[in-house]
Amino acid sequence: MEKISFYSLNLDDLRELFVQNGFKAFSANQLFGWVYKRRVYNPELWTNISKTLKEFISEKMDLSLPKIVWQGESKDGTRKFLVGMKDGQSVEAVAIPAKDRLTLCLSSQVGCAIGCTFCHTGTMGLKRHLSTDEIVGQLLATEKWMRDNIDTKIQYTNMVYMGQGEPLHNYENVKSATEIFLNDLGLGFGQRRITLSTSGLVPQIIKLANFPPVNLAISLHAAHDDVRTELMPINKVYDLKRLFEALKSIPLKAYRRITYEYILIRDLNDQMKDIQGLLSLLDKRKSKINLIPFNEYPESHFKKPSDKQIMWFQKQLLDNDIVCTIRTTKGADILAACGQLKSEQEKGKLNLWE
Ligand code: SAH
Ligand code: SF4
Repeated sequence: MEKISFYSLNLDDLRELFVQNGFKAFSANQLFGWVYKRRVYNPELWTNISKTLKEFISEKMDLSLPKIVWQGESKDGTRKFLVGMKDGQSVEAVAIPAKDRLTLCLSSQVGCAIGCTFCHTGTMGLKRHLSTDEIVGQLLATEKWMRDNIDTKIQYTNMVYMGQGEPLHNYENVKSATEIFLNDLGLGFGQRRITLSTSGLVPQIIKLANFPPVNLAISLHAAHDDVRTELMPINKVYDLKRLFEALKSIPLKAYRRITYEYILIRDLNDQMKDIQGLLSLLDKRKSKINLIPFNEYPESHFKKPSDKQIMWFQKQLLDNDIVCTIRTTKGADILAACGQLKSEQEKGKLNLWE
C-alpha cells in the first residue's frame, strides 16, 4: 500500500488517523510541533514520541519533501525555485525578500485552466491540481533549501497564492494546506500573513465562508466587461456584476479590505475611462488596488504603459481617495513573474537540468 504523505493531513486528520490506529490524539499535536514548528524531519530526533508510534509512522507515512530541481537568484534578491513532484511534474515557488519580511509566492496547480490571455501559465492549460502535501511541501522544501545553503535561521513571514494556478479551482486541497499553514502548534502563520488570490470563480468565492479568513485578492484587471473578457475568459461566465454580488455576500469582518489586482496594459486598460470604471465599481472604504505593470514577454502582443502613464493612473486613484500601490516587478532577470519560468522551461528555452 502506498504511504500517506505526512504533509497531506491537517491536525484533525492526523489526530483521527492516530486514534483509529490505537494512538493518542495528543501525539498529533506533538508531531505538529516536531515537524512544522521545529522543522525536524528525522524521526530519530523526536525524543518524546514512542517507539511504536515511530514505527507506525515509518511504515505508513511518507515524510519526504518535493525536490528542488532548479533555483536561481535575481539581482534584487528574489529567489525562484522549480519544485519537482513525484510524478515528474514541477511548479514554481518564489521567495521574495523585503525589509522586514520574506514572502513565499506559491503555486496551487500545475498549469491553469482559466487561460487569461496576458498570463504565461494560462497558455499551458491545466495539467493537474496539486495535492495538499505538494502545496505545503513547496514551503518546507524551499525553506529547507535556503536553511541548508544560505542561513539556518531563514523563515517565511508571509505567503501569497500567486504562483501557478487558480487556488479556488483546487478549493479543498488549498483549504487543507492553508489550515496547516495557520495552525498555531505548527507553522503558525497569522491569518493576515496569507493572501489568497483568485481570478473570480464565483461559486467558490461564495464558499469562502467555510474557508479560514485569510486576506483576499481579486484579479480584476479591468473595470469594464468587454475589456475584462478580452483578458480573462472567465468573465464570460462570471462577469463583473456576478463577481461583485458574490463579494458582497462574504463575511465583511474577515475581509476588511479586499485587494484588487490590476495589471496595467498600454492603451487597453490605462485610460481615464478605466479610472471612472474603477471608481464606480469599488467601495473606497473596503478596497485597495494593487497596480501591476504588465510584465512583457516575447510571445505576447501586450505592452506595459510608460512610467509616466503608470504614475498618472495611480495619481488619479489616490486623488479619489482609493488606497493604491504599484507592485514593482521583482526578479525580472530570472523570469520570476509568476508562471514565466515553468513555461520557458517547457518550451526548452532554458536548460534547467544541466
Ligand atoms: N490564478 C490566480 C492566482 C495568481 S495568478 C489569479 O489569477 O488571481 C498569477 C499572478 O501573476 C497574478 O497576480 C497575475 O495577475 C500575475 N501575472 C500573470 N501574468 C502576468 C504578466 N504578464 N505581468 C504581470 N503580472 C502577471
Ligand atoms: Fe490562471 Fe491566474 Fe494566470 Fe489567469 S492569471 S491564467 S487565473 S494563473
